[in-house]
Formats: sequence, structure tokens, C-alpha cells
Amino acid sequence: MPVNQCPQGHEIRTSADRDNGGYCRRCRSEREKRQRIGKSAAWTVVRAFESAGVQFQHDGVPVEPAEVVRQLTEAYASGAFDTH
Ligand SMILES: [Zn+2]
Repeated sequence: MPVNQCPQGHEIRTSADRDNGGYCRRCRSEREKRQRIGKSAAWTVVRAFESAGVQFQHDGVPVEPAEVVRQLTEAYASGAFDTH
């Protein structure tokens, strides 16, 4: 790996720009952005299912995965996910 480049090919000017994994500041901020987007995408999906009647938690207690599957099946059977 060139000393003045990160694994993604970004230019690295000083050693302070490089983290322990060899990635630069730009890589880090892009990674954080992806994680933020991933989180908000996940919540969008959760809210879409909730509006279809699926509950992922009860009073803050996570619902058993098998129960979530049962609710999903019921919502699907009742046409909650029909797009037409
Ligand atoms: Zn980089």
C-alpha cells in the first residue's frame, strides 16, 4: 500500500489522516455516512411494517422473532403488502 494513499486511493498528507486500519479521514466520514443511511433505511422498513400492523416490541420489550414472523404472515395474508 503506498504511504501517501489509503486503501481506497485517497491521498493522505499526514500520518494524522490515517487511522489504525490504514484508512483516511475521507473513508471514515464516508463510512459513518453509510452507517447513518443504513440505520435510517432500517427504521424506514420497521415503520413500514409497523404501519401494516406488525409489532416488533411490546412496552419496550422486543417481540420474539417467531411472533414477528407470525404477524408478518398475517399482515401478508390480509393484503397489507399488496401494492396494487
Ligand atoms: Zn480513503
